[in-house]
Amino acid sequence: MQPSDQVPFTDLGAMAREVWPDIEIAFTNALLSGQYIGGSPVDAFERAWATYCGAKHAVGVANGTDALELTLLALGVGAGDEVIVPANTFIATAAAVVRAGADPVFVDVDADTLLITPEIVRAAISPRTRAVMVVQLYGNMPDMDGLRAVAERAGIWLIEDAAQAHGAEWRGRRAGSFGIASCFSFYPGKNLGGFGDGGAVVTSVPELADRVRALANHGRSLGSAHYEHSYVGTNSRLDALQAIALSGKLAHHERWTEARIALAGRYRTRLTGSWARLIDVSPAARHVYHLMVIRVPDRERVQKALIKQGVQSGVHYPVPCHLQPPLRRYADRPLPVAEQAAGELLSLPLFPHMTAAQVDRVCRTLDEALEEVLADVRAA
Ligand SMILES: *Cc1c(COP(=O)(O)O)cnc(C)c1O
Repeated sequence: MQPSDQVPFTDLGAMAREVWPDIEIAFTNALLSGQYIGGSPVDAFERAWATYCGAKHAVGVANGTDALELTLLALGVGAGDEVIVPANTFIATAAAVVRAGADPVFVDVDADTLLITPEIVRAAISPRTRAVMVVQLYGNMPDMDGLRAVAERAGIWLIEDAAQAHGAEWRGRRAGSFGIASCFSFYPGKNLGGFGDGGAVVTSVPELADRVRALANHGRSLGSAHYEHSYVGTNSRLDALQAIALSGKLAHHERWTEARIALAGRYRTRLTGSWARLIDVSPAARHVYHLMVIRVPDRERVQKALIKQGVQSGVHYPVPCHLQPPLRRYADRPLPVAEQAAGELLSLPLFPHMTAAQVDRVCRTLDEALEEVLADVRAA
């Protein structure tokens, strides 16, 4: 097999090569200036990112997990409080709740979107509930209007875990503009990713932005002297070189997002009527396809058949959060949709520089693999 036949899961180098000419001078200047922490590159990216999201403030932090934890701490969510978390998400959503000292309350997800719904959240609210983590998983959007209405009526915070949803929209409004705060990750593999770890908390509440900023910078309040601390904080900052990379990539982000959406559309057309089950997208949603997730029978075998043909794939996620050993103590009942989906989920290659021919090749290989699996099922 020729190396050109290989279809990688993603291609971060292609994005870096495209953005590098735009940022080379700024990157070199920052490097040689010796100013690595904070400064104008970070301020500029924070302003640009808040504007992009349709919010007033963005606070750069070290990663998406810290964005979640610092948001909870800044809101005063902690011991004795409950936070509703979907079972089908990356573990960081739930881990942040535990690290903040609160209890995650795991809920199941909708069978067609694999996202939470207003009804599911409403049914899980107790007198101890302080917040709900709305995860826009894979880049898809749940019913944000309904979720906001439920949260408002119950008097709980809606926090967006938008780590996979840069640029995703619900009725024309972007992820990052719905919650009291929204948490983004700029991990390299995310739709907008740095040359290393990064994250941001986006909010339109100035006091909340100030508090997150202080907590992320050793508890220093705005304007206080270097060794005056108002809180016991931590060190979780976005550094200047990452901010330059992110500002550079932000200029390409809409075009890269449209490329993802077009390639996903091709996948969806090609896979309609096949044995692969697609995930539903509401007509009100702009799904930005951080991941191209489908559901298949006998996933391990399908993955092996794909890799034999040089096609990489992933699983997001093989174990639902409430069944992860350190989180099991928060799970008090089965969550059948998330549990069944975990055994079937398969993420196909998808990245802005992927070609239509590569999508077609993945689909052909997948068709062949599924035919084999199903021939065996029929024979049995
Ligand atoms: C990536 C991710 C996080 C964590 O972000 P990091 O920057 O890796 O810490 C949190 N939640 C979800 C849904 C994610 O996909």
